[in-house]
Amino acid sequence: METFNAANEIQDLQYFGEFGGVNPSISDSSTYTFLSAKTMFDTFEGNADGCYLYSRHSSPMNLYLSQALAKMENTEAANVTASGMGAITSVLMEVCKADDHIISSRTIYGGTYAFLKNFLPSFNIKTTFVDISNFESIENSIQPNTKVIYCETVSNPLLEVADLKKLSEICKKHNLQLIVDNTFSPLSVSPQLLGADIVIHSLTKFINGSSDTVGGVYCGTQEFINDTKNVNTGACMLLGPTMDSMRSASILKNLRTLHIRMKQHSYNAMYLAERFEKDGLKVSYPGLPSHKDHELMKSMMNEEYGFGGLLTLDAGTTEKANELMELMQQENLGYLAVSLGFYKTLFSCSGSSTSSEIPEEERSAMGISDGLIRFSIGLDHDIERTYRKMKECMKKTGVLNHETISIY
Ligand SMILES: *Cc1c(COP(=O)(O)O)cnc(C)c1O
Repeated sequence: METFNAANEIQDLQYFGEFGGVNPSISDSSTYTFLSAKTMFDTFEGNADGCYLYSRHSSPMNLYLSQALAKMENTEAANVTASGMGAITSVLMEVCKADDHIISSRTIYGGTYAFLKNFLPSFNIKTTFVDISNFESIENSIQPNTKVIYCETVSNPLLEVADLKKLSEICKKHNLQLIVDNTFSPLSVSPQLLGADIVIHSLTKFINGSSDTVGGVYCGTQEFINDTKNVNTGACMLLGPTMDSMRSASILKNLRTLHIRMKQHSYNAMYLAERFEKDGLKVSYPGLPSHKDHELMKSMMNEEYGFGGLLTLDAGTTEKANELMELMQQENLGYLAVSLGFYKTLFSCSGSSTSSEIPEEERSAMGISDGLIRFSIGLDHDIERTYRKMKECMKKTGVLNHETISIY
């Protein structure tokens, strides 16, 4: 039997447009007609397969994109949403009710952290934040009302890797759901194969890859997806973070090149990480043997896609980081911008941007230092040239000083 390959799964999907087009037709409608009133009633009751009701519930193009992403993550079904946060909040509001408890990795996306820490407690849903590699502390945090262990496969911004197999064992033992945000490692890691119950992506990042829209998806069992879309009780149906059909069409087109893009992002990031490390810079990349989770990542990944497009570099201070980022932008090496997965390199100082929701003391306890720059490495054609130009910028700003250079 062929082993599971996410890119092949996407490749094998074939849809025809209404007039035989090679792209599926976009249904430009918010509402749908029924030939009989009885079918309309059945559809509201959730009993009429293949019928559309209203586009907040589902639309043909959203189902195509959802199906492609379910194939990619090896789950029965999926549902696309207007943003990654739309997916995360719908899933957590579906799985957890008042008085429930969540265990979450403490190194997660700033928006998710803020939702767990500041928003859910008003519904009496509390979260214990843990070091996701400390299984003893995770088990000790489990309470009778715990429902979920939540983590990111590769965490933002520190690129720590969660041991999904081990976490899934803990979840099975205690009857918890393992919910994994796989935004940083599409194709590279398939969380469902390692035991995740629900897999989430911000499509905004690598999957769409064009930095022209926000979008999200959650992947899970058909039963779970149906529950979230239930017209009377479903979190996604009732909170309403629906993706627009036009957008799902454009994301579906970009998804087709994801496998090629991921390989190039990973190749370029690995190239820079190796050289920066040799230059004596404080660089962190899961592909480097010096990264604390290098072996774990190797054991979990589909090797052909590499270790991903993200790396971090500690410039020492916020001032030095800012100076370097401004200079790199002037030199057309990329943009001083948050987000990731674009064709150009994007860089931002995590402590003062995407992780600024996390209080300063907690940031430093996690290891997010003030001068930490997160790079999302682009699809640069000539990465050797990029490296030379970046190194010039580092010399000019003193991030790379003469002592470190002279060693090599
Ligand atoms: C960007 C991001 C999100 C949030 O997604 P949006 O599309 O911005 O709502 C969630 N998790 C991770 C890891 C992200 O990088």
